Amino acid sequence: MRKHHFIGNAWCEASSGETLPIIDPSNGAEVGQIARGTAQDVDAAVAAARRAVGETFDGPWGVLSASERGRLLYRLAAAVQDRIEEFALLEAQDTGKSIKTARTDAIFLARYLEFYAGACDKLHGDTIPFQTGFTVMTIREPHGVTGHIIPWNYPIQIFGRTVGAALATGNACVVKPAEDASQSVLRLAELAAEVGFPAGVINVVTGYGHEAGACLTAHQGIDHISFTGSTATGRLIAQAAAERHCPVTLELGGKSPQIVFEDANLDEALPVIVTAIVQNAGQTCSAGSRLLVQRSIYEPVLQALAERFRALKAGPPHLGLDMGPLVNRKQYEQVKRILAKAEADGLQVMARGALHPEAASAGYYQEALLYRDVPHDNSLAQQEVFGPVLAAMPFESEEEAIALANGTDYGLVAGIWTQDGGRQMRVARKVRSGQVFINNYGAGGGVELPFGGMKSSGYGREKGFEGMLGFTVLKTIAIRHG
Ligand code: ADP
Repeated sequence: MRKHHFIGNAWCEASSGETLPIIDPSNGAEVGQIARGTAQDVDAAVAAARRAVGETFDGPWGVLSASERGRLLYRLAAAVQDRIEEFALLEAQDTGKSIKTARTDAIFLARYLEFYAGACDKLHGDTIPFQTGFTVMTIREPHGVTGHIIPWNYPIQIFGRTVGAALATGNACVVKPAEDASQSVLRLAELAAEVGFPAGVINVVTGYGHEAGACLTAHQGIDHISFTGSTATGRLIAQAAAERHCPVTLELGGKSPQIVFEDANLDEALPVIVTAIVQNAGQTCSAGSRLLVQRSIYEPVLQALAERFRALKAGPPHLGLDMGPLVNRKQYEQVKRILAKAEADGLQVMARGALHPEAASAGYYQEALLYRDVPHDNSLAQQEVFGPVLAAMPFESEEEAIALANGTDYGLVAGIWTQDGGRQMRVARKVRSGQVFINNYGAGGGVELPFGGMKSSGYGREKGFEGMLGFTVLKTIAIRHG
């Protein structure tokens, strides 16, 4: 267990000397401690990052060329690739996710780092036709020091796609992982130092969101904040950042629809629909948590899905089942509250998965649930549950499907299942979401595919080449040479 901050390539005790407990979500037991970061620790991390970049990009990190940064990122990607099992275990232990999911996360982490390693020296500006006698160019510069507030659901993937992109563009980073899942991020920072990243390029301060996280957000030495997490916390972060005009990227929640038309290939659609909601026990911002099915095939689709839901199992991470426990007691109680309200509203559970006999009663386990005929205005169809709960409802026409799909505060991802090419594009163009998948559903997206929200799902884009742009500022240089 790593129980200190990682600042300037060294382990540092919390300046307050205080720690937080690490709880194993599969049995509720305390298994270790992490440092409880405060303003002083954040100060030290920001100072280390600023030294690495240098006042005028003249620090040991700031002077590196794009290809030199790329080479270091490749080394880190390769080091992760050699340690997939180590990262998978750390992630599974901390978050409770099935080791199967954790392995995929570790593979994605390596791929993000590899992608951004390769992209480092491919990012360039433009020259702009202007008045005679001028040459005008744009160059993309790093912000300087970027702050990364990472949630507990996919720590290493989110590290890969935000810290990877920030490093690729020449920023130094201060990372605040979630209080429930800091181990894998600490290990990554340590590994980066081992493969040769200069001191201060990646700093990790652990602790509570309202303490270490809030200090980071408010810190004058942070030039950009990337936040992934809940909509409510995203609002707080954007407000704090607005106080000092700090740019922010927010990747927040979702209530993403899967829209199944009567001509869909159900053999392909159904397994994907199930995975898109139960993956990571439903604790995925892009989970496909609403199922809209055309009325003519509603009953057979629900019957077939019910069978699949009954076969789903939740259990301890090491068993590699469909799901592990939820991440913590708070999340578990929140899901239970939402389910109690659904019951009070008279909603009907059509099918439920099972808990494995080894699932300890003190663990935060929630079996998968399929609800049918959920009214569109019910909170189960409107609110993000962040649990393995699918809310199904019928629709009659394409117009109604679009209206239902767009009828929540969110706009992160949509899945469209139909063989009709015209309908695929009509619906894809009218759905208000940052990603649309046709006859597939990339819960979590792909490394190369720009990802982010509309409406309350946030703003700014992560992943892919586009994901690098937010970590740069564009400078225009106009030269009058006559
Ligand atoms: P949850 O409520 O499930 O913990 P959050 O969105 O609050 O989800 O947490 C995501 C990340 O944001 C975590 O790293 C958490 O510590 C951090 N965080 C929470 N509150 C704040 C805050 N006020 N300022 C900065 N970071 C915060």
